Amino acid sequence: MTNHKTLQEQAPTLYIVPTPIGNLGDITQRAIDILSQVDIIAAEDTRHTGKLLSHLNIQTKTFSLHDHNEQEKASLLVDKLLSGQSIALVSDAGTPLISDPGYHLVKLCRQAGVKVVPLPGACAVIAALSASGLPSDRFSFEGFLPPKTKARKDKIADIAHDERTCIFYESTHRLIESLHDLQEVLGSEREVVLARELTKTFETIQGLPLGELIPWVMADENRRKGEMVLLIHGYRRSESDEFSEDAVRMLKILVQELPLKKAAGLVAEMYHLKKNALYKWGLEHLD
Ligand code: SAM
Repeated sequence: MTNHKTLQEQAPTLYIVPTPIGNLGDITQRAIDILSQVDIIAAEDTRHTGKLLSHLNIQTKTFSLHDHNEQEKASLLVDKLLSGQSIALVSDAGTPLISDPGYHLVKLCRQAGVKVVPLPGACAVIAALSASGLPSDRFSFEGFLPPKTKARKDKIADIAHDERTCIFYESTHRLIESLHDLQEVLGSEREVVLARELTKTFETIQGLPLGELIPWVMADENRRKGEMVLLIHGYRRSESDEFSEDAVRMLKILVQELPLKKAAGLVAEMYHLKKNALYKWGLEHLD
């Protein structure tokens, strides 16, 4: 244990415990210790978690906490914590709260002054990013893409100019549709990495421009099976969009009334841009 007190001697605590995303070897020793010692394990699917617990030879009792009952059951769990019991939260796989239940419980615990302790462990988004070869200094995790085409394309349009690596969870039966929508909105050149079946026997991590990734996926139905993560290379800013659309629009309006130099000076000040660079751009692009 991290400190040398037993769980019973510590303040009531909610432990956030990641479980494997495919390879049982990825459970940590600390996760095993906590799962064996807490009073209750709150689990997304008690039958599913029961299999992991019996594999680990852990007899702790479970309590069902899933998307549909979380709001109602969270306060009951907080009462148990306040009465001195310790609880571990697990989901079916990976890190709880990451596209999984737990948010309401954690929020309520923190409001009630219950200690919340996170254990690091398996998480598909982080595993995929770490091996994707895409920039990992800045990234945004967007959960699942919307199932309906219109909402999905709107979502893709929202992230189209984001310079960070953008990561989605995707399901096998929507993969082709989503890839086509990505191609329509982002173009064939945008690099996308498909990371599937991470930590499992058929783990595959393939990165290609969309125009090549789609035929690659179509060529073999095994390539679209299983659990998957899609990672989109961030938008690459080019010289032509050095200045935001708003700044360019403002410059175009002002040059109708003012000399370019004056207009560029005002717009540069408004949008925190370099005056000379904007003036030079204006000379090259505006009549
Ligand atoms: N909480 C989990 C985590 O920490 O990654 C994610 C739960 S979310 C309901 C399940 C989705 O995560 C899957 O549909 C898939 O997109 C992704 N995922 C989970 N396990 C994966 C794996 N082994 N390989 C690739 N993607 C996986």
